[in-house]
Amino acid sequence: MFNEENRERIRENIQYINQIKAEAAVKAGRRDEDILLVAVTKTRPPEDLNAAIDAGITDIGENKVQEIMDKYEAVKPVRWHLIGHLQTNKVKYIIDKVAMIHSVDSIKLAEEINRRAEQHNLTMDILIQVNAAEEESKFGITTDETEEMIRYILENCANIRLRGLMCMAPFEEDPEKVGVFFAQVKEQYDRFAKIEHERLDFKYLSMGMSHDFEVAIAEGSNLIRVGTAIFGARNYNKTV
Ligand SMILES: *Cc1c(COP(=O)(O)O)cnc(C)c1O
Repeated sequence: MFNEENRERIRENIQYINQIKAEAAVKAGRRDEDILLVAVTKTRPPEDLNAAIDAGITDIGENKVQEIMDKYEAVKPVRWHLIGHLQTNKVKYIIDKVAMIHSVDSIKLAEEINRRAEQHNLTMDILIQVNAAEEESKFGITTDETEEMIRYILENCANIRLRGLMCMAPFEEDPEKVGVFFAQVKEQYDRFAKIEHERLDFKYLSMGMSHDFEVAIAEGSNLIRVGTAIFGARNYNKTV
C-alpha cells in the first residue's frame, strides 16, 4: 500500500512539474518539448527511479558515481546523467553507463573522460560547468577559463563532443534574484554555440533546479534538473 501511494505521489509531482515547465516555456515564447526534464534521484532507491520512469521520465540525474553503480542494474532502461562533481579516478566506472556528463570543470577531467571514451570506442557528450557567480564553494570554472577549455578539448579530445553548458545558481530565498546569473550563462552559451567545429554541437543549457527552474527557463534554460519537487526532501543519513 505504501509503495502504491509513493508511486502515485511521484507521478503527480512529475505531472505538476511538467505543467509548470510547459507554462514557463510558453511564457518564454518557446516550445515545451524543447525543454528536457531530468529527474534528480540522489539518495533515492531504485523503486523511486522506476516509478518516475513509469510516469514518463526519460532522463535521470545522479551526482555521485557510486549511486549510479548501485542502482544501475535495478533500474529500467533510461538515459543517465552525471550531474555532480566527478573525480578523475572514477570516470572509468561510468563512462559506458551515462549519456552525458554535466560537470566537466577541468582539463584534467576532460582528458581522462577522453581517454576512457577512446578505450570504449565511444564519443562522450559533455557540458562544461560554469560558475559565473564565482562562488568559492561551488565547482565550475569562470567565464574566461571556459573558452580556453573549449579550445583545448576541441584540439585534444577527439572522443568528446561538446553539447553545452551547465551551472548551479547561488542559493537565494527569492529565485528571481538569480535571473541575472542565468542570463549571463545564457549569453556565454550563445557565444560559444557559434564556434564552428564538428565536435561542438551545442544543444543543452542545463540550469534550474526545484526552486529556481521557472526563472531558469525564462532566461533560456532548456534542461532542468529537478529532485526535491518530484521526490520530496532528501535524507542524507539514509543509505540507499
Ligand atoms: C541535487 C541536485 C539537483 C536537484 O536539486 P533539487 O533542489 O532537489 O531540485 C540539481 N543539480 C545538481 C547538480 C544537484 O546535485
